[in-house]
Amino acid sequence: MNLCDIETIHAVLGRHGFRFSKSLGQNFLTDETVPRRIAQMSGADRTGNAVEIGPGMGCLTAELCRQAKRVVAVELDRALLPVLAETLAEFNNCEIVQGDVLALDLAALCKEKFGGEGAVACANLPYYITTPVLTALLESRTFEKITVMVQREVAQRICAAPGTSAYSAFSIYVQYWAGAEILFDVPADCFMPRPKVDSAVLQLTPLQTPSVAVRDEKLFFALVRAAFNMRRKTLVNALGPVLGGRMDKDGITRLVESVGLDARVRGERLSLADFARLADAAGETAKGDA
Ligand code: SAM
Repeated sequence: MNLCDIETIHAVLGRHGFRFSKSLGQNFLTDETVPRRIAQMSGADRTGNAVEIGPGMGCLTAELCRQAKRVVAVELDRALLPVLAETLAEFNNCEIVQGDVLALDLAALCKEKFGGEGAVACANLPYYITTPVLTALLESRTFEKITVMVQREVAQRICAAPGTSAYSAFSIYVQYWAGAEILFDVPADCFMPRPKVDSAVLQLTPLQTPSVAVRDEKLFFALVRAAFNMRRKTLVNALGPVLGGRMDKDGITRLVESVGLDARVRGERLSLADFARLADAAGETAKGDA
């Protein structure tokens, strides 16, 4: 069965009386090359396992079942369970877990389903939960690769370089924990119903150790957030809310200059290494004051 064929989709969903839910981000793929390429590039193979988020009617799940040893797919919408029972009937290496992916402990799920074996994560994500899902996938410290379809702008934001308008606190968060690359673009007419935005397949490769060394991770991310909360302001002004309790504006200026940055620089121009040097210097200053 070609699960991306529009007539097949109508026939199967019609048999089960299924109606698309906009609020659950249900846009199903209608181009069979897309799930095939995602599965092939996911890193899942016969010796590996895969977790899928949001199988829908199972087009990516089926490709993963052909590629991986075991597949666990988490679907929130109960109405899709009888659909998936029909479309995935030919596979004996697949399990559907009904539930909200954001309410699950993904590390515990993988341990329970795959024992100590490695796993990759894959999804055509429901876009309304892109950021929390990517955060949960990275924080689970469980997946060797994470290959997900997201809104194209979000993929570009995650992979953005310093000084570009797409560079954000979330770019830094993701790039701190993982390598990030856009694998390929997917136009809006590859989905049913057609979404308003174009998409891209993003691949994250979680790192064994973060991409930059920082002594105080909390302070590092507090500085990043402050810099981007007021991204039109100079870094010195933007850091006031975080560092103001410890030092005055002259102190913040000296701190910024002490790590080789211009006092007039905006935070959006700083690389992860710049933020790491800044956080370490701020931590040292705080210690010196104590
Ligand atoms: N994988 C299918 C495809 O590519 O055609 C469907 C992808 S569709 C964009 C997103 C899927 O995620 C839907 O099946 C939707 O019901 C499911 N979903 C939405 N919110 C979810 C959540 N919180 N947890 C798990 N699945 C969710």
